[in-house]
Amino acid sequence: IQFNKGDIKEIINYTISIAKQQDEENRIVFETKIEDAIPEIDCVEKRLKQVLINLIKNAIEAMPEGGRITISAGVLDRTKVWLTIEDEGDGIKEENIANISLPFFTTKKNGTGLGLMVSEQIIKDHNGSIKFESTEKKGTKVIVELPIVQINK
Ligand code: ADP
Ligand code: MG
Repeated sequence: IQFNKGDIKEIINYTISIAKQQDEENRIVFETKIEDAIPEIDCVEKRLKQVLINLIKNAIEAMPEGGRITISAGVLDRTKVWLTIEDEGDGIKEENIANISLPFFTTKKNGTGLGLMVSEQIIKDHNGSIKFESTEKKGTKVIVELPIVQINK
């Protein structure tokens, strides 16, 4: 994989602008909490944008009546950055948590069940991690961690 330096803040702001265009009725309020001076990370920018678009899409779809999506990012330690996407949606049922990233797993009428599988693969290709914290009827938080430097460039 060809990694290049990418700016998390720019990736977030770009994907929010795309999501806002889709949210024609302005049902969603986007909030960002991004630390200053997050170092650029080795990444495939268009792939990370794809992950964020998938995660924001899921957050929007979890809030049919609208709500707030909070995207935060910061430096975890010398080697990693973190990123979270929080929604106020329906949440994920306990019994589904283990299955949500499986190909074709969907709870939606017209879902493909591919978004999280693809997103997990992209994060794995970046040697990062993705995990989900969810409370039914309260919402979901997706936590992504990514290395700042890729060893095998
Ligand atoms: P799809 O969106 O096509 O259903 P995904 O792979 O993106 O496929 O997601 C799989 C499933 O995980 C969804 O159908 C949904 O049940 C659950 N899920 C993912 N993100 C969220 C979220 N933010 N809130 C509630 N459920 C979610
Ligand atoms: Mg999806």
